[in-house]
Amino acid sequence: MSSEKELVLNYDLIVCGAGPAGALAAATAAQAGLKVALLEKHTLPRHKTCGGGTPMVMQSLLHELAPEAFVEANVISLRQTWKFGDPYLAAINPPGVDRPLSIWMMQRSVFDNALAQRAVQAGAELRDGLAVRSVEVENDCVRVRAQAIKPNGDLSKGDTLIATARTVIGADGANGITAKAAKLRQKQTIALGMEVEFPHEWGTGHPDLRPEVAHLEYGAVKRGYAWIFPKADHLNVGAGLFRPHRQDARRDHQIREELRQAIFNYLEALQVPYDRAQMKFHAHPLPLWGGKEPLNTADGRILLVGDAAGLINPAFGDGILHAAKSGIIAATCVIDGTTTAYSDRIHDEFAGSFDAARRLAYFFYQYPKIFYQYGVKNAKAAHIATQLLAGELPFDAILGRAMRRVGTGMLSSLLPVKTSLNFRL
Ligand SMILES: Cc1cc2nc3c(=O)[nH]c(=O)nc-3n(C[C@H](O)[C@H](O)[C@H](O)COP(=O)(O)OP(=O)(O)OC[C@H]3O[C@@H](n4cnc5c(N)ncnc54)[C@H](O)[C@@H]3O)c2cc1C
Repeated sequence: MSSEKELVLNYDLIVCGAGPAGALAAATAAQAGLKVALLEKHTLPRHKTCGGGTPMVMQSLLHELAPEAFVEANVISLRQTWKFGDPYLAAINPPGVDRPLSIWMMQRSVFDNALAQRAVQAGAELRDGLAVRSVEVENDCVRVRAQAIKPNGDLSKGDTLIATARTVIGADGANGITAKAAKLRQKQTIALGMEVEFPHEWGTGHPDLRPEVAHLEYGAVKRGYAWIFPKADHLNVGAGLFRPHRQDARRDHQIREELRQAIFNYLEALQVPYDRAQMKFHAHPLPLWGGKEPLNTADGRILLVGDAAGLINPAFGDGILHAAKSGIIAATCVIDGTTTAYSDRIHDEFAGSFDAARRLAYFFYQYPKIFYQYGVKNAKAAHIATQLLAGELPFDAILGRAMRRVGTGMLSSLLPVKTSLNFRL
């Protein structure tokens, strides 16, 4: 006979997953007076595989949470390279910009924990160390079965929580189970990212290794890029593949090896000494935006947010801001009783820009050297890229211009060659 117990509880809303999407959904709904459960598999704070860079506009979504609580570095310059050479150091705010921008660098363990605690302050019931095992729609509610992986309040390890609510928000990320249970997002494009963190003493290594500079390298990974992001006392070094050959890059060992090698090469290029045996690599899927698709069940009982909804920008591979925005939109739909219109709200917010980002990514990652030469190496490009990252400028507003600029640059570089050939002939 099993000694494990079952606890049955009822809520207005259950949020599965306490990343930025889930925590902000829970905080928004709890703030409005709903009885909210926020269920998280890991015990917080937990490591999250991520570069941890997000545009400073994130602040507008966080209300009273002060940036000092989690921002470790404020990036105002980008140092970009092609195959670790041809460096281009650009200010994010060149002279003449109206509104200065920057990119915040944080540790996801700290940021996500701060957001979850904010949800608790707003009244949400956080239950971490509790893995959601099933999500089932019944006649008048959704039933979530979750198992305690670690002791949690009134639950011991192995105990089960059976929670019911009118609505469930699936914020359980790229590998979550809510999308599958709801039979949503059955065909996904999954890219792959990898990162490693290790201590860094500022003032050592390459002179451009500084707390206000982020590094991006475009030739080290085919169909992707590598990065070095500054944190308070360490570097986050990573690489991602953003245009996979296959629909799902998760189990491709060759890609993992390529990403790992790009990371080693980047460290060598920036004169950062490392010991392979000491490095802890983390790889994680990147569910890229693949076009409009339903993100709520037809009855509006289950909504998907963040990575669970495939809201990763296919050009840059970022998802924190979109996760946060979608969590707030989903909670607002729950509060307003408009959950059946949730997909439309998300499409209104993201589809135009992300569809254009997808087209841009197709060409960028096909011809990265040409884009590097004629698109990236431009005095305004770092500012425009940060505006795009922040969602202040949609990709559809720049796609035509970017393609023309790269095309014209490429043609003009070919003209002297033609002339000299003609001359010789
Ligand atoms: C290597 C890499 C680097 C990246 N760098 C950046 C970057 O610099 N900037 C950026 O904007 N984006 C970056 N991203 C993307 C970013 O990490 C995601 O888009 C973001 O975390 C999505 O947030 P989320 O809340 O939707 O999901 P997540 O942050 O993945 O949170 C999901 C949560 O659900 C929990 N969960 C999963 N299953 C269950 C379950 N069964 N029961 C309960 N809980 C569950 C997980 O433990 C997790 O805490 C990067 C991604 C990778 C892989």
